[in-house]
Amino acid sequence: MTTAIGIVITDHIVAGRLEDHRLTAKPLRYPTDPTEPNANIDALSALPPSDLIQLLAGEIAFLAKDHPRPIEAIGVAVPGIVRNGVIEDSPNLTQIKGMHLAGDLAKELAARGIDAPVHIDNDADAIAAGVAATHGRLEKLTRVWTIGNGIGYGRWPYVDGIWEGGHITVTLDPKERYCGCGGVGHLEGIMGHRAMRLRFLDLEPEEVFANAKLGDQRCREFVDLWHRALAAATASFIHLAGPERFYFTGHNVGFVELPLLRAHIESMVKMTHLQSFSLEILPPDDEIALLGAGVSALRALVP
Ligand SMILES: [Zn+2]
Repeated sequence: MTTAIGIVITDHIVAGRLEDHRLTAKPLRYPTDPTEPNANIDALSALPPSDLIQLLAGEIAFLAKDHPRPIEAIGVAVPGIVRNGVIEDSPNLTQIKGMHLAGDLAKELAARGIDAPVHIDNDADAIAAGVAATHGRLEKLTRVWTIGNGIGYGRWPYVDGIWEGGHITVTLDPKERYCGCGGVGHLEGIMGHRAMRLRFLDLEPEEVFANAKLGDQRCREFVDLWHRALAAATASFIHLAGPERFYFTGHNVGFVELPLLRAHIESMVKMTHLQSFSLEILPPDDEIALLGAGVSALRALVP
């Protein structure tokens, strides 16, 4: 039997204990009140790194106590570029940039008598790992787009690299400069929630998509651009790593119209041996990423 703890940090934190890749109880959540999404974003973006470490260590200690079996591995999924336990960049949680999260957390845990390796994953990679584990695809290439405030790209199996798919350039139009990173022409600058609010100062993203359905010309053109951008990025990854399945999730995944997306990808991918790709929408689910964080941490134990 394997025992691990999985933690996911997005605009909130969830933490759970896993035994044989299954949650043993409902995950802990911070902030505990999920009914105020804007308050949640503020709650984490205003949290100093030292407080974050204390918060995570407290949740891990709570999940580890009163169990006879020691924790074998702790997996933490965070948004941003993660390499060797260090957060190299995190555009939507800027205060954790440069943090040696694995080392700092392990040190705090050791002080509390918990001795288990800490493994840090990109949040989208953790979702890909969780999807692979729950869909029996651990031996296959699985790619996930997370569509929310930022746009994340995750893949399983893990390969070293940057993989900031949300910042792939999808247009040469110099006016496309809404990406949170400041780069021109980026996917996230078209699809990201924050970017859409900057583009439509008079409408919320939900209203843009609703108005498009009612026939509003400006909104319809944008919804088509939004899908073409996602199609362009997906087609690029098909041309680089091959077809296979792409999953789409995140709190704005409800905006995705698969037939429209598929039609645009088909217009961009014309080599017949690359046309066997498949697309699937997954409802946003913290538990898949939590499971993936734990699975990745356990896999990382195997040299
Ligand atoms: Zn960018």
